[in-house]
Amino acid sequence: MSEQLEQMDKEYVLHTYARNYVNFKKGINATLFDENDKDYIDFTSGIAVCSVGHGNKRVADKIYEQISNITHISNLYCIEPQAKLAKRLKELSGYDIRTFFSNSGAEANEGAIKIARKYGETKFENKRYKVITLEHSFHGRTITTVKATGQSSMHTPNFAPYPDGFSYHNKIDDIYNSIDNETVAVMIELVQGEGGVQPFDKKEIQELAKFLKENDILLIIDEVQTGVFRTGEFLASNLYEIEPDIVTLAKGLGGGVPIGAIMTTHKDIFSPGDHGSTFGGNYLVTAAALEVLDILEEVKDSGVLDETIIYFNAKLNEIYEKNREIFTDNVGLGLMRGLRVKDADTLALVIKTAFEYGVLVLKAGKNTLRLLPALTISKEEINEGFKRLENALDKIKQG
Ligand SMILES: *Cc1c(COP(=O)(O)O)cnc(C)c1O
Repeated sequence: MSEQLEQMDKEYVLHTYARNYVNFKKGINATLFDENDKDYIDFTSGIAVCSVGHGNKRVADKIYEQISNITHISNLYCIEPQAKLAKRLKELSGYDIRTFFSNSGAEANEGAIKIARKYGETKFENKRYKVITLEHSFHGRTITTVKATGQSSMHTPNFAPYPDGFSYHNKIDDIYNSIDNETVAVMIELVQGEGGVQPFDKKEIQELAKFLKENDILLIIDEVQTGVFRTGEFLASNLYEIEPDIVTLAKGLGGGVPIGAIMTTHKDIFSPGDHGSTFGGNYLVTAAALEVLDILEEVKDSGVLDETIIYFNAKLNEIYEKNREIFTDNVGLGLMRGLRVKDADTLALVIKTAFEYGVLVLKAGKNTLRLLPALTISKEEINEGFKRLENALDKIKQG
């Protein structure tokens, strides 16, 4: 891409990411085109965001129709697509819930923690406020959600002091021992995404959920990455057959527009003034999300999503088996997949070489190659993407 654009980016944008310099101009489903019309198969979908692919015409038309009329009013007035979306989330989840709309995953988790804190304040004799999380989790980048994130490398003194009341533990079993009479909630992902695409055992989660319910401790499931059909069901919580108190969503819900959701069975926990958001749940994002859900429900109900999951994972397993000198494990659920790479340097080389060969893949944790394709990815795109990845791996093996 042009030297000029790269310089502009470096000069004027804060340096919070190790950027790849490519200038994408157009996308069709899981295929991206740069300014020279070179095409890339996208196995990242913008980190599980573009759930219905790039350039989706139905979503684009819906957004255009909506913003030609109203883009935004404020939450002081009823917003028709917001009410419809909240109803839809209740139906799709199968839970008896109400929803608040935020603008991101971190903000959704922040709101979930506020719900837990209010529950802990109003429901018990003593104030319960502690939230337990897990090592290798990821819950966001605000000061509070960074503190909730179970990665010590993120708790840098640069941003201290952090809020009190958070602790993280190595494994599910350790949660039981760390609960005391000030514990109000446990917050976990069912498949740790950023931490390395690590799914938890279903039985273990069900036992934890049962124990927490019996002890009146809230279970918050962070489905910012696993939600909206990523694991094959609408929620990973549905797949695990649990009934959490709070579920948060974001990434895949809007197909690219910024939207998050906090869904809770504690339907009357908040009163007017307790929480709010200027942009949250506005006409633009909720109209887009409704269309995204229409598309994804069709893909799910027609059986196509389940077929895509089987097909993608068969191809992935082929590449895994053929390259056991590079990959040490094959992990994940649905279209949230990871291949553990023998070491971090090799992983960096795989991602870089794959990019050169025209396929986009991600990193998770220290040594996991992560794949999060659009849920609408076609067989042709899957075939082409894995062919390119294979070529990249061959190149690496030749040294
Ligand atoms: C990405 C992610 C977040 C943070 O979402 P943002 O929209 O970046 O704030 C939180 N939790 C999980 C599990 C995530 O994957």
